[in-house]
Amino acid sequence: MNREKESIRSLEPYVTNPTVCSVKLDANEGDKDLYRDLLKKLGESDITLNYYPDDSYSELKKEINNYVGYEPKNITVGNGSSELLDLCVKTFVDKDETILSLDPTFSMYSIYAQVFSAKYIGAKAEEDFKVNVDSIIKDIKENNPKLIILCNPNNPTGSVLTKKEVRKIVKSTDALIALDEAYMEFGDESLIDEVMDYDNLLIVKTVSKAFSLAGIRMGYIVANEDIITSIEKVRAPYNLNSLSAYIATEALRQKERMFDYVKKIKEEREKIYKALVYLGVKAYKSGANFVFFKSDIDNLQKKLVDKDVLIRKFSGKLDGYYRVSVGTKGQNEKFLEAFKEVI
Ligand code: PMP
Repeated sequence: MNREKESIRSLEPYVTNPTVCSVKLDANEGDKDLYRDLLKKLGESDITLNYYPDDSYSELKKEINNYVGYEPKNITVGNGSSELLDLCVKTFVDKDETILSLDPTFSMYSIYAQVFSAKYIGAKAEEDFKVNVDSIIKDIKENNPKLIILCNPNNPTGSVLTKKEVRKIVKSTDALIALDEAYMEFGDESLIDEVMDYDNLLIVKTVSKAFSLAGIRMGYIVANEDIITSIEKVRAPYNLNSLSAYIATEALRQKERMFDYVKKIKEEREKIYKALVYLGVKAYKSGANFVFFKSDIDNLQKKLVDKDVLIRKFSGKLDGYYRVSVGTKGQNEKFLEAFKEVI
């Protein structure tokens, strides 16, 4: 007997690639050593496990404040930005209302929409996956969305909307815009300094990418107090565990490490991009910690796996497209070596 609610019947469970390779460049993760020493610090700390976490996450929000410059009343934290994006849909979108995003973009947005029986529209990108701002504004006017999710830089394409372009979209509508800046540390077009200038803008951030802390699952939203208060009504208490809150707080205290790391990744990203272009591959300029490219090589992913390198392969409308995360210098060299051998 199928007891599922109607809206999820056509969904499949999200399956992550279980393949194990020594060079893992499939999920836009960071450097395993960047904050590894915090595990030891955690072990030596006086953190308590019997009590629930401090649900105001005051220490963590203090450090987020030091990083982005906003007060705790303008911040909510969660179990990865994934939970927060889900919370945005739960908080602001009812059944049959519309969520508008980009196409292609991060696949989870449409899944969150479907789970809550919302309509989902992906605004088509132009040639070369460039996002066309005027056509998004037109789509917004025609479809009257309740929530607009903009991923900037966009996953999986790496394309970047300039601040000017995002401002134009935000000003064109009263609808709420969730700006997913998961990768923005690797780009230069963050709207974080202006988030309070608009009453319809929230910014979603994470420590999974630039801070290389995907394993602890910590994300946060920055927005005006009204938006945060609405989300806080829906957020489950203690949604972020004490261990993750502790590690994220310490990592934010030592954010200079992250800045150095980002600098290196940007240099490495250019090397990968140039090497792929040099090899005749159609690669796309990226503002994130990955490079998106097209290849006609049969079974490219499998051939690279045989050389102990894992990258992300897309299917459906994006059949023939791939995404490689920018890793350490050594990992990137191994990827490029393996790539040269298979072409
Ligand atoms: N947004 C984007 C654009 C992503 O690519 C990802 C993860 N790949 C997330 C949000 C979720 O990140 P996390 O839950 O680890 O913060």
